[in-house]
Amino acid sequence: MSLSFCNVALPVPLRTTFTYAIPDSLRDSVQPGSRVLVPFRNKLLVGLVVECVQHAPPATKIREITKAIDFLPALTPKLIELAHWMAGYYLAPVGEVFRAMLPPVTELRTQRQVVLTESGRSAIEKAPAAPRSLDPQQHALLAQLCEKGGVIPLVSATKLGLDGTALQRLRRAGLIELRESMLGRKSKTQRVIAWKDVRANPEDSALPPILDEKVERVRSALQARGPLPQSQLLRATQLSRSVIERMLRDGLLESWEERIDPAEDPFDVGYVPPAHELNAEQETALKLVRARFELGEFGVLLMHGVTGSGKTEVYMRAVQDTLARGKTAIILVPEIALTLWIGRQCRAWFGARFEGVAVLHSALSDVERAREWWRVRNGEARVVVGTRSAIFAPLENLGLIIVDEEQESSYKQEETPRYHGRDVAIVRAKMENAAALLGSATPSLETYHHARSGKYELLTLASRVEQRAMASVEIVDLREDFSKTHQTSPISAALHAGIQECLAQKTQALVLINRRGYSWSVLCRSCGASVQCENCSISMTHHKQRNRLECHYCGSLKPIPKQCPKCQSKYVYFFGEGSEHLEERLRKEFPGARIARLDRDTARTKRQFQETLGAFAAGALDILVGTQMLAKGHDFQRVTLVGVISADSSLSLPDFRAAERTFQLLTQVAGRAGRGELPGRVLIQTYYPEHYAIQDAVKQDYPAFYERETQFRRAMAYPPFTSLANVIVRDTDLEKAIRWSRQLSEYFSPHDGKGLRILGPAAAPLAKLKREHRFQFLLKSPKRSLLAKILGGAMTYLDLKEIPETAVLVDMDPLSLM
Ligand code: ADP
Ligand code: ZN
Ligand code: ZN
Repeated sequence: MSLSFCNVALPVPLRTTFTYAIPDSLRDSVQPGSRVLVPFRNKLLVGLVVECVQHAPPATKIREITKAIDFLPALTPKLIELAHWMAGYYLAPVGEVFRAMLPPVTELRTQRQVVLTESGRSAIEKAPAAPRSLDPQQHALLAQLCEKGGVIPLVSATKLGLDGTALQRLRRAGLIELRESMLGRKSKTQRVIAWKDVRANPEDSALPPILDEKVERVRSALQARGPLPQSQLLRATQLSRSVIERMLRDGLLESWEERIDPAEDPFDVGYVPPAHELNAEQETALKLVRARFELGEFGVLLMHGVTGSGKTEVYMRAVQDTLARGKTAIILVPEIALTLWIGRQCRAWFGARFEGVAVLHSALSDVERAREWWRVRNGEARVVVGTRSAIFAPLENLGLIIVDEEQESSYKQEETPRYHGRDVAIVRAKMENAAALLGSATPSLETYHHARSGKYELLTLASRVEQRAMASVEIVDLREDFSKTHQTSPISAALHAGIQECLAQKTQALVLINRRGYSWSVLCRSCGASVQCENCSISMTHHKQRNRLECHYCGSLKPIPKQCPKCQSKYVYFFGEGSEHLEERLRKEFPGARIARLDRDTARTKRQFQETLGAFAAGALDILVGTQMLAKGHDFQRVTLVGVISADSSLSLPDFRAAERTFQLLTQVAGRAGRGELPGRVLIQTYYPEHYAIQDAVKQDYPAFYERETQFRRAMAYPPFTSLANVIVRDTDLEKAIRWSRQLSEYFSPHDGKGLRILGPAAAPLAKLKREHRFQFLLKSPKRSLLAKILGGAMTYLDLKEIPETAVLVDMDPLSLM
């Protein structure tokens, strides 16, 4: 019985799969999880085979698959299962979910290979003469594989007379694996040095028991870290190569050549992560993680550790444990800069011992990304570090998923499929029976709520490593500052003095502002009109260097107006400082200082980003100005002052998470100060010093903030006490948008009050975005399943009323209601 049809998911906004016929020539290469090229309407699309079936639905014209793209199915069955869950939960077309999961389609230089498995090896070893279950050709193949070290190119197998079907049969029997391996990598190698445990060798007992001091340095480095690349070892021990050579000759060390990872970044060279003994809190946290591993089943742990408490150190050891148990691990980080940083640590920790660490993020070129992705798929990398979409890394035998800074909004994808990386991580961990370890200094309210209720296990790191003090946080009341100075500089007198002091002491300062550009509003003094984007209901931002206005939502540009577009008055003025303005101001106030700015305008590429951060870390800069980008994760040792220009701009947003965001941002940014030996100081400028989000951030008291904020959320029926879905109806034609929201309202209203609340339709806070008019419904229910049911029904209703699916945007668990 052959399966001659398959259902294919296509990246189109339709909630269905499509049936195609499998031509005989492709029978072997089309399996669930394979990517295929298929005709759709009048073009060719890349789709994913979801399942193979015997029959096609009757009375439809079935077209044939044009081409099979993958040799090895791109996705594992577990990932297909995850995609189905996502499509259901987030009400996203499954084809779009797969598109988010899959690597870019690129022409990689590859070689198809046949790999001998363990059972293949024992089969051939047990039966040197042809056993009955194998025909002579198959036997010859296994024998050749055995002889050639377990891997041969596919063409050699073909030369032995084995066709695709024969190979697939062997694969299904578990005797071989097929894989596609990348060619054209620089096969540059490095020498790795390991400590040879002499005590295990009785003949060596003649060695003097007391080793000399240099030997001792090498021994402790290698025993703490395991094998290290020679360059790193020399750096760590400050010894010359001749010492290592002597020890190799004496048989104290062993060495081998290992390929250098192509994803390596330039800062890797000679990078040695500090090897710390865990402190008591870290030790306890790690013990709890291990206890979870021992149970060998799914569980979520929240590691709530204040900034600088050494969470990374615990992550590394948890991954180390996972690998030692023969499993694989994913580490999600909220942004690209951190993938570099954590990736570097991982390579230093695991690169030399296990074949590899893969790094996945959106700033890689398509080829790099595809290459890394396939290294993972082929089992060549067992640790994956990456941003949001790395949660789909095709690892098998997953043991641990770490989500660092789990509260970060960058884990939420704000386009279809609108998934949350942390939540998908938890679901994936559950499906794979793995542990999920969430880490944060300021957990999201939802996560902490689960930890409090016992659904997650709570691990606490309450103090900074080595008893370092938390930075002292002070409020600068801008009302007072103004009444004293009558200055309009965004830099208050106190902040100015603080920076001056940093410069005098040759330490570093970070200054944070949450808007980029020069001025974020252009206003007419005569009529009060502001210059709005023509596509969006939002004011345009002035960028001075680029000499134009930009819309930060749709990217549209305008020349700087010489007069008011409405009343032609010449009194146009710019107000609201952005990062560009702040940088200019700092340069004026501190003429001798070395200053750089880091925001999305200056750090367009990975390289620019790295260069600026690298320069700052190396002490080549005194002041770094920037947006939120600066707030996260970085471990700068010489920062003694952090200034926050305005804590209020995020508080005043019409969003139920405004207080939470402000608290998180302030705490994170405070965490950048005083991480080294030097104590840190944080100055927060604000007009509302009495707000609890600011007060609790000053005290760096998360539990207090949690208590107050939960009261508000409970009273207002917001998460974590209710599930939320945001439904937006949108169209460039205002009348259509209105008509469709009316129709949708007819569907919704009978359900209102029956276990869920339906608010709307109302004009969305961003009433116009990218030329589209937007109306909003907000659905709230304590029961998520009910929400899902009603929304599922809404999708059917849309079909019935012939409302295009693209006109209705469903955001399950929205992070923002803007
Ligand atoms: P977090 O992510 O919790 O803010 P990090 O993991 O970045 O903190 O660690 C902060 C600093 O403390 C790092 O420089 C790290 O090397 C160091 N560190 C971690 N654990 C220890 C320890 N047990 N003893 C001394 N220093 C440590
Ligand atoms: Zn005007
Ligand atoms: Zn716009």
